[in-house]
Amino acid sequence: MSSNLQPNTKRKRETPVNDDAPREVERSTQFWFDDGNVVLQTQTMQFRVHRSLLSLHSPIMKDCFACPQPGDAPLLEGCPLVHLPDPTKDIENFCALLYGVYHLDVDGINYAYLETMMYMGRKYGISHFTASALKHLQKLFPPTLKAWDNGCSGIKKMASENEGLLFDVINLAYEYRVASILPAAFLSLCTIHKLDEILSGIERPNHHRPLAALNHQPMLDCMRARMTFIPSFICGIVNFMEGDDLDDESKIQYIIPTARCTKKTSCQRRFVDVLTRLIGLSSSIYCIKFPRRLDVLCFSLEDISDPFCRQCEPEMQKTFDTHIKTAWDELPGHLHMSENFDV
Ligand SMILES: [Zn+2]
Repeated sequence: MSSNLQPNTKRKRETPVNDDAPREVERSTQFWFDDGNVVLQTQTMQFRVHRSLLSLHSPIMKDCFACPQPGDAPLLEGCPLVHLPDPTKDIENFCALLYGVYHLDVDGINYAYLETMMYMGRKYGISHFTASALKHLQKLFPPTLKAWDNGCSGIKKMASENEGLLFDVINLAYEYRVASILPAAFLSLCTIHKLDEILSGIERPNHHRPLAALNHQPMLDCMRARMTFIPSFICGIVNFMEGDDLDDESKIQYIIPTARCTKKTSCQRRFVDVLTRLIGLSSSIYCIKFPRRLDVLCFSLEDISDPFCRQCEPEMQKTFDTHIKTAWDELPGHLHMSENFDV
């Protein structure tokens, strides 16, 4: 699958040394080893590190170092000077991880390191970075609705602090065929990002990195799921009679009003209000909302003085809860994951 973050040794090797644009380049205080034998230089910082360590972890860097250097190749204190187009922060994090300055914690991870592992792991073929990142992502984007519910405020916070997170996570999940994180990741994407952001991608605060955007297949699947997921949930709670003959209105039976309803007209109107509200939440060009609780949904309706009758309310609540769960369970189907992931 194509990706604008995939390893690209050609571009890296062809990156010109831009000596015409003088800028302040500092030496890293932490990663400048006297016995280092290569200097990595970003736009703002130099790192004197060890070729053997880089080569051990990155086959792409190993290949790069193995290439014969021209006689006029730049040297710094006798070390080859390698210009990298990557953000300084990523090279710092990369060094911190390789030199063991930052230790990965199984219970939590600083997102900046997770992002570096995703980005550098893919770009430089560092397989253990990618594997660790995916392991942490499986915790962040759990496979059950209850776990997602518990964690979604944390995901929202993380996504707002790290723009592009959800796009990267979904692309990575497709690239490495990690289907389990996709329902939670897609739902998070559609509830956090507007439609035009999903279609066009979003700028990252750090402009040295490409736009955060979904690759082709994730984009198709996301659009399909966004259009069908909540409408399917709404159809579920409408509860058509067996046969679902929509052309014959006499065969359509709604769950509200129930047989024992005491306020038929009022409950019918209330039911239409709920359905209308649900359609509004799902068909917006802005962020869609996945309604988690009926009482919150009803509270947001204007006419809160006229609730369902005592007979209809529990039936409505039960149907709502059942179909919320069904909607989650059916998300892989809306995403066509069985076709894309052999699940
Ligand atoms: Zn009723």
